[in-house]
Amino acid sequence: MSKILISACLLGMCCRYDGKSCEYQKISELVDRYELIPVCPEQLGGLPTPRTPSERIGDKVIMKDGTDVTRQYNRGAEETLRLAKLFDIRTAILKSKSPSCGKGLIHDGTFEGGMTEGNGVTADLLMRNGIKVYTEEELDLLP
Ligand code: SF4
Repeated sequence: MSKILISACLLGMCCRYDGKSCEYQKISELVDRYELIPVCPEQLGGLPTPRTPSERIGDKVIMKDGTDVTRQYNRGAEETLRLAKLFDIRTAILKSKSPSCGKGLIHDGTFEGGMTEGNGVTADLLMRNGIKVYTEEELDLLP
């Protein structure tokens, strides 16, 4: 059974910034097909739960109160990549729109709900290291 890294919040773990999960019902269909390895990059980066929401602004990640949390986001991405290498994982399913996990489209840094093209910090790092990243909305594309 091949291993897939997955955003922990999609499995129902309450690791989101607001202390909630965003369990995605279709994920349960994958349990019989893959070995799912849950990961939350923001927690791995040392951020608490709940936490103030953050958005990417250029190369930085900034909390809504202005705190620069780029270092924590980068650390979480590096720890996630380390896990992927440790378990020889080539595929990840990451939560869409997140400043860590989003792929293709993320919040635009205004904290007003707008979106822009781009990737979360962790999704970026994984893809740059040859790991295929899918959002929960792309499960039909999984090998
Ligand atoms: Fe979910 Fe990723 Fe945010 Fe953690 S960092 S709560 S796994 S979207």
